[in-house]
Amino acid sequence: MFAEPSDREALRFGDVSLTHAELHRAAGTLAKRLAGLTRVAVWATSTPQTCVAVVAGLLAGVAVVPLNPKIGERELGHIMADSRPDLVLRDEPIVFGEPGEFAEPGPETPALVIYTSGTTGPPKGVVLPRRALTSNIDALAAAWRWTGDDVLVHGLPLFHVHGLGIGVLGPLRLGGSVRHVKFSPQAIGHELATGATMVFGVPTMYHRIAEAVEADAALADRFRAARLLVSGSAALPASDHGRIAKATGQGIVERYGMSETLMNVSVRFDGDRRPGAVGLPVDGVEVRVVDERGTDVGTGAIGEIEVRGPNLFLEYLNRPDATEQAFRDGWFRTGDMAVRDPDGYLRIVGRRATDLIKSGGYKIGAGEIENALLEHPSVAEVAVTGEPDDDLGERIVAWVVPAGEPPAPEELSGHVAKLLSPHKRPRVVRYLDSLPRNEMGKVLKRELRC
Ligand code: ATP
Ligand code: MG
Repeated sequence: MFAEPSDREALRFGDVSLTHAELHRAAGTLAKRLAGLTRVAVWATSTPQTCVAVVAGLLAGVAVVPLNPKIGERELGHIMADSRPDLVLRDEPIVFGEPGEFAEPGPETPALVIYTSGTTGPPKGVVLPRRALTSNIDALAAAWRWTGDDVLVHGLPLFHVHGLGIGVLGPLRLGGSVRHVKFSPQAIGHELATGATMVFGVPTMYHRIAEAVEADAALADRFRAARLLVSGSAALPASDHGRIAKATGQGIVERYGMSETLMNVSVRFDGDRRPGAVGLPVDGVEVRVVDERGTDVGTGAIGEIEVRGPNLFLEYLNRPDATEQAFRDGWFRTGDMAVRDPDGYLRIVGRRATDLIKSGGYKIGAGEIENALLEHPSVAEVAVTGEPDDDLGERIVAWVVPAGEPPAPEELSGHVAKLLSPHKRPRVVRYLDSLPRNEMGKVLKRELRC
């Protein structure tokens, strides 16, 4: 699972840094206390202690349940009752005692129980076996030419697959380094100027980076020097992709993934960095885009993404019903909709539950309309939803955070009708001061109701 312990820096959080050898020593010491347990929860503060605790669990073959340290009472109650951990580790002091000796657990042993973001409903506990993590990190290493020489910087939370599963465990498996920062474009820029080579971020971060590099040429040069910038967890607006490319020369590599599958699809390091597209399935992962009956929809049509491969989770904890419903003939049904370009590149349209609008006999993806609206100078942020309509079945609603004075709704409808086509224009425009988002910057569309 992990690279040979070496004297290379494994982790850096502010002034605290641990080499791979030190990390293994500390984790191996803590792991002695965990041997024989089934599950251990880790209060996932953004600290080296969290990383040591997670590695300790993995060494001892105990499933780790990382918890959002800002979690509210009700959600904490739900996750504790659901996962029933034997122990909760909370910023356990790092001790370099005598590490235990542990046999490598088998590939199907549960490694992490990651609770989904809860974007579409109550969070589900996704049980990820060790082979999902190892195979996915290896596939991403090939896709991104990611090696032990890379120094990754990110400011993501440590209780999701993005920041923890790949962001921390990736460098620990590949023998490289990860530096964790409190996110700001300047903090990332500082790390890039002092040895970091790669950045992981979510679209809301890249939006702020776009604004910052346009305003500051020296900062833009720091980003220009990066080997690779990667975005995921939500759709990267084509407008931000273009702004960053223009200011820094960096085409952001977008990848698509989820708790249940880790990262399925990605643009390759030497592939076409096409705005609005997430690229091709990573090595070993099969992806198909199908209609309700499971038939491939072919190039250019909207269908649901289904996935098969060693990256898949084992089950939703205590939810055999949900696990069964999530599979069709061995394929995992992601609930996300996509369109395939002629060369196989996937474009994520959005989620079946909230982003696919059926209006006037058409199936319309919210993402395409959101991208078009973001090209209007008076639109700072936007989310598009459908709501029931007697005539159309559903009507398109745009929830807009204006940049300055709100424009007339007709102005925005006309802009979309001109860029896309008339049936894709919003019938209703509602203005807001901000969009409801979770800690990953994902828009919580179920909260967008009148
Ligand atoms: P829940 O399952 O509880 O509703 P969630 O699906 O947001 O929450 P995660 O597993 O953390 O929880 O997120 C995975 C989802 O994020 C994917 O199913 C997809 O909708 C979205 N996503 C991830 N990467 C991208 C991307 N590059 N473009 C568009 N959407 C993405
Ligand atoms: Mg989900």
